[in-house]
Amino acid sequence: MIPFQYVRALKQRSAIDAVLKDKSAQFIAGGTNLVDLMKRGVTAPQKVVDITNLPLKEVVLKNNKLLIGALALNADVAEHPFVVKHFPLLSLALQAGASAQLRNMATTGGNMLQRTRCPYFYDTVLPCNKRNPGSGCGALEGYNRMHAIFGASDKCIAVHPSDMAIALAALDAVVLVSGAKGDRRIPFTDFHRLPGDRPEIDNNLVRGDLVVGVELSQNAFSKHAHYLKIRDRASYAFALVSVAAALDINGNTINNARLAMGGVAHKPWRLFTAEKFLAGKPATEENFKAAAALEMQTAKAYEHNKFKLTLAPNTVVEALKIAAKV
Ligand code: SF4
Repeated sequence: MIPFQYVRALKQRSAIDAVLKDKSAQFIAGGTNLVDLMKRGVTAPQKVVDITNLPLKEVVLKNNKLLIGALALNADVAEHPFVVKHFPLLSLALQAGASAQLRNMATTGGNMLQRTRCPYFYDTVLPCNKRNPGSGCGALEGYNRMHAIFGASDKCIAVHPSDMAIALAALDAVVLVSGAKGDRRIPFTDFHRLPGDRPEIDNNLVRGDLVVGVELSQNAFSKHAHYLKIRDRASYAFALVSVAAALDINGNTINNARLAMGGVAHKPWRLFTAEKFLAGKPATEENFKAAAALEMQTAKAYEHNKFKLTLAPNTVVEALKIAAKV
């Protein structure tokens, strides 16, 4: 590992200032991704600013909104009684992520900011536009079994690895950010970027921006929600395809649907077309299949991930059936 300076921030403002002053500085909290990246030489900050002493660990209900502090641990959020009861989709997604040990270290903010697990990104002798802009994309013509089928570009076909973020996208969460110009709110679906010509940029934060929390509004989806993750082994594996499905059902009629997919795009992939199709329709397998088929019209596979063209719609249908209890 390359030597670096370690600074522990005691105030939010001093943490932001420390990162603003030093172009190579990065915030660190649980470190479950950043330390790996540093050990492997993928990133080499000259300074890391430890934010774990900041008062951002709370999970509280305020004015009918659930506020999850950026430093709330994944395990604590997943097991929080209010989250389990009112936002079961989030609890299930968190429990599907990583391992128990990692969930005890990883934070809410860090989870959404984790970087892709594309193997070419982590292997510093191979070309990767995300790690080394302009060097090429090893995965395009390489072993791209885990890669995107939606929203990719000829510069990068990586996927976002988070499970938590897929549920937050489906639930219309809002990211709370503090930065050089004060506080701002970013809708979760606008937080992460597609790769386009700048795959090295994962999200819409700017230098000095600190994620301070996530806000969720209470909703009518708690009775019919499911997170279905398909992976190569039952635990500690990233999604081949995952689906966050939440339905507001009256009798057998769907009032509203919320759907997002993981393992298929550079950002949590919200299924707006399928949601629109399902609103006002009966909760039947036939309608679920039609909704999934509509969404798949824009999918594009590469040499080794063609199986996702079948796996993705099947996972959408199965997640909807489990959520709807049909
Ligand atoms: Fe790098 Fe993206 Fe290509 Fe992977 S898919 S090698 S992360 S540019």
